[in-house]
Amino acid sequence: MRCIVAKYIIYMMVVKRDKYIIHVSDEILSILDKYKQKNYQNESGGIILGSVYEDNNIYLSKLSEPNASDKSSRYSFERDKKTAQMIVNSEFYKSDGKVIYLGEWHTHPESNPSPSFTDIKMIKKQYKNNKINEDFLILLVQGIEKLYIGIYNDNQLIDK
Ligand SMILES: [Zn+2]
Repeated sequence: MRCIVAKYIIYMMVVKRDKYIIHVSDEILSILDKYKQKNYQNESGGIILGSVYEDNNIYLSKLSEPNASDKSSRYSFERDKKTAQMIVNSEFYKSDGKVIYLGEWHTHPESNPSPSFTDIKMIKKQYKNNKINEDFLILLVQGIEKLYIGIYNDNQLIDK
């Protein structure tokens, strides 16, 4: 007899953005909390992974954490492309194609963060250049206190 062990994921945060319902896992919230730029740390970031179900329910389950190949300063972050692609491939494989790349996250050294012009350019570029399964991309920006949650589709970033 085969034994299937599934990890139970808890989604404490739920927000609505346009027609989408975005669920954020506890694991993501605790990773974001860890990288808050409270004490002059550099910006951190990575990719968002998760699954999409019917009625525009988006489940953000995992984040990739910063690694040594990323370029980071107090006011900028550029993630390493190869490492991210490896993570996307391995999560896709491990989950039988259920867990996919859903967007980008990084931190800002401000309490109530909003995406910069560079951030908007970056998410547009990701949307264009990647082979995206869905018609949107998520952008998370973790400030010292608050978390910004935006969704990019139809050529605009929606955050309400
Ligand atoms: Zn930014």
